[in-house]
Amino acid sequence: MLNIVLFGPPGAGKGTQSAKLINKYALVHLSTGDIFRANIKNQTALGNLAKSYIDKGQLVPDEVTIQMLESECNKHPKAKGFIFDGFPRTHAQAAALDTFLKSKGTGIGMMLALEVEEEELRKRLLLRGKESGRADDQDPAVIQKRIDVYNAETMPVKAYYNAQKKYFGVNGIGKIDAIFNNLCRIIDTYLQAAAKSASKKIVAKKTAAKKSKKLVPVKKTAKKVAKKQAKRMVKKATNQKTAKKITKKVAKKQAKRVAKKVTIKKTVKKTAKKLAKKQVKQVVKKIIAKKAGKKAAKKTTKKASIKRITKKGKRR
Ligand code: AMP
Repeated sequence: MLNIVLFGPPGAGKGTQSAKLINKYALVHLSTGDIFRANIKNQTALGNLAKSYIDKGQLVPDEVTIQMLESECNKHPKAKGFIFDGFPRTHAQAAALDTFLKSKGTGIGMMLALEVEEEELRKRLLLRGKESGRADDQDPAVIQKRIDVYNAETMPVKAYYNAQKKYFGVNGIGKIDAIFNNLCRIIDTYLQAAAKSASKKIVAKKTAAKKSKKLVPVKKTAKKVAKKQAKRMVKKATNQKTAKKITKKVAKKQAKRVAKKVTIKKTVKKTAKKLAKKQVKQVVKKIIAKKAGKKAAKKTTKKASIKRITKKGKRR
C-alpha cells in the first residue's frame, strides 16, 4: 500500500496536486476539509458542528476528525493506498493515524510537504475565495487565523514525520506540473526502494524456506535420535533403580540371615555355657560325694578294727 500525507499550509496547493497524484498512482483521495464541506452542504450533525469551527478559522476537535477519517478509510477496503490531504493537522491526529494504519497492517510511506511563504498563501486564498465562493477564503481575518493555527498546531506534525525519516519538502511555488513532477520523483524513488526491499525480502524468505526445508529432515532425525537416547537413558535409569532395589532387598535378607545366625550362635553358646556349668556342678557334686563316701567308709573300717581289737583284748 502507498499511503501519502500531503502536507502544507492552507492555500499551498494540496488539493490541486492531490487530484493529479491520485490519477497517476491510483490512490484514494481523502481530504478532511472536503468531507467537512460535504457534510455542511448536506446539513448533517457533523457538518453543523464542523461549520462552527471552520467559520472561525479553527480546527475541528481531534476526536471528531479522527473518527470521521477512520470511517472514511473503512469505506475503501480495496484501496491500493491513500492520499491524506489536510490530515493529520495535529500531533494527536498523526499518532492516531499511525495506530489506525498499523491495525490494518500498513502505515504512512511518506509526508510530502508543499512549502509556500505566508504572503503567497494570503494572495492565493483570497483569489480562491473570489473564484470558489468559499467563505473561509474570503475573510482576511479568518485566513490569518488559519495560518496562525497552522503554525502553532500543525507545524509540529512535520517533526513527527521527520523523526521517522518520512518528511520530504517540495517548493510549492511555481508551475503546477513542475511541482507535480518534483512530487512524482520523490514518490517514484520511494516506490523503487520499496520494491527493492520487497524483492530482497522475498529472496531472503525463499532462501530461509529452502534452508528450513533442508533442515527439517535433519531436525526430524535429530529429534528421533534424541528421543531414542532419552528412552534408553530412562530405561537404564529404571534398570539401575530396580537393580538398586533388588540389591537392597537381597542385602536386607542377608542381613536378616546373618542376624539369625548370630542369635543362634549366641543362644548355642549360652546353652553350651549353661550346660557346661551344670556339668561342672554335677562333676563337683560327684567328687564331693565320692570323697564323703570314702571318708565314711574309712570311719566304719576304723570302727570295726577298734571293735575287733577290743574284742581280742577281752578274750585274753
Ligand atoms: P481545508 O480545506 O483543508 O483547508 O480545511 C478547511 C477547514 O476544515 C479547516 O480550516 C479546519 O477548520 C477544518 N479541518 C480540515 N481538516 C481538519 C483536520 N484534520 N483537523 C481539524 N480540522 C480540520
